[in-house]
Amino acid sequence: MKKENNKKILKIVLIIFSIIIVVIGATIFLRYSNRIKLTQFAPQTKGQMMGYRIITSKGKVILIDGGTKGDTKQVQDAINEAGGIVDAWFITHPHEDHVGAFIDIVENTNIKINKIYTSVHDINWYQENDSEVIQENEEFLNTLENEKIKGIIEEPKINEKIKIDNILIEILGIKNPEIKENAGNNSSMVMKFNVNNKSILFLGDTGKESCEKLIKTQKDKLKSTIVQMAHHGQSGATEEFYKIVDPKICLWPTPEWLWNNDSGNGEDSGPWKTKETRNWINNLKVKENHVAKDGIYSIEIW
Ligand SMILES: [Zn+2]
Repeated sequence: MKKENNKKILKIVLIIFSIIIVVIGATIFLRYSNRIKLTQFAPQTKGQMMGYRIITSKGKVILIDGGTKGDTKQVQDAINEAGGIVDAWFITHPHEDHVGAFIDIVENTNIKINKIYTSVHDINWYQENDSEVIQENEEFLNTLENEKIKGIIEEPKINEKIKIDNILIEILGIKNPEIKENAGNNSSMVMKFNVNNKSILFLGDTGKESCEKLIKTQKDKLKSTIVQMAHHGQSGATEEFYKIVDPKICLWPTPEWLWNNDSGNGEDSGPWKTKETRNWINNLKVKENHVAKDGIYSIEIW
């Protein structure tokens, strides 16, 4: 009788064990088949730049900025390698180190773009508030008038959600007409890409004032697994902001000279604040830092 009971118990244990194995296996499989690939572009010139490509679970191609005109080939190759069509191109703000490659591709290639998301002011606003780089702003606005893309441009609303395959994109920040300090950068579009309970926060060149607004209006949505370091890793987002984001992985669109604060006379010879930001991130115990100075980098997220 005892032997019979033991056999029964063993059978039940085996069944429970098998169910657990199947559930774990199915969860891992679902997550894996729901994976995306994120690529950080690397500077092809001596200047700073920012650009990312994301490939969704079903192979759709999303771009965020792209870099300068000198970075065009890298962006073009990345699009072609992924099938040759851009499903959605998000532009954070119109400065050359973000939109140069985009302008070049729209004006001088036949690459098909299905949708463009951007949040821009009219030329008068830039003339009043961001006149130092007025030519860059004007060139971008002119490109948006190009017949090839005129009909596919969308200006997202604040808190709008955009679904592309398995990615849910939340628009946390758009242009800020009322912010007059560091105005062009502070009007960077801020986006959170969600996939499989993980998230990537793109900040463009967001500065202190826009951060303060985001903390006031979006605080509970800022925490993210991965963050793109604002303004190439210096004089962008604040320490308080990064503490709220509390990232596990930091993506730095930062060239070597800026990473080392080197204006040409060796490490620490420059006026930039990158080292300060690096300290904040060290204090947050972030283990993974991927810096564009080290070359093009890809990561699978699942
Ligand atoms: Zn920039």
